[in-house]
Amino acid sequence: MTTQQSHGWAAYVGVGSNLESPREQVEQAISAIAQMEGCFLVAKSSLYRSEPMGQVDQADFINAVVAVQTVLDPRTLLAKLQGIEQDQGRVRDGEHWGPRTLDLDLLMHGSSVIDEPGLTLPHPGIALRNFVLLPFAEIASDVVIPELTDVATLARKIGTSNPAIEKLAQ
Ligand code: AMP
Repeated sequence: MTTQQSHGWAAYVGVGSNLESPREQVEQAISAIAQMEGCFLVAKSSLYRSEPMGQVDQADFINAVVAVQTVLDPRTLLAKLQGIEQDQGRVRDGEHWGPRTLDLDLLMHGSSVIDEPGLTLPHPGIALRNFVLLPFAEIASDVVIPELTDVATLARKIGTSNPAIEKLAQ
């Protein structure tokens, strides 16, 4: 039997915010992803609070990861995610580690390996960031990231101190 969930690809999206009620920003972004045409929300992680990296005189981040089943190809999905960022007022000022209303990263899309201007898959930051790996492992620990290893193994190695991160009560 074909169900909505069996179409397309499994994709994972990292969600982060540290401005303008970040918890609400993250929740609102997850709702927007769930309502996106061509996407079915399969799972969402808990919310995590992490200290900023790089420029430290800014507010803590709230992070989460969601799993979707999607019929959208990677570029179309990324464009729609960027539309959500724009809708929620993110200003792209080129400051790499600066404060942001909403950051949506396409972490992985099926087994795609892409390295093109404007789109790298799997997302190159996955293995380096506990605020991605810990929520990712909560919802998809067995998933093997193309050209890397499974999420649980990466999450075990990353630790919770750089940056300091905590899982928030629901
Ligand atoms: P950032 O400001 O760190 O969110 O980076 C945004 C830029 O990264 C945009 O120009 C995107 O086109 C590009 N980019 C490349 N690969 C990805 C990806 N897998 N997910 C999100 N943005 C990506």
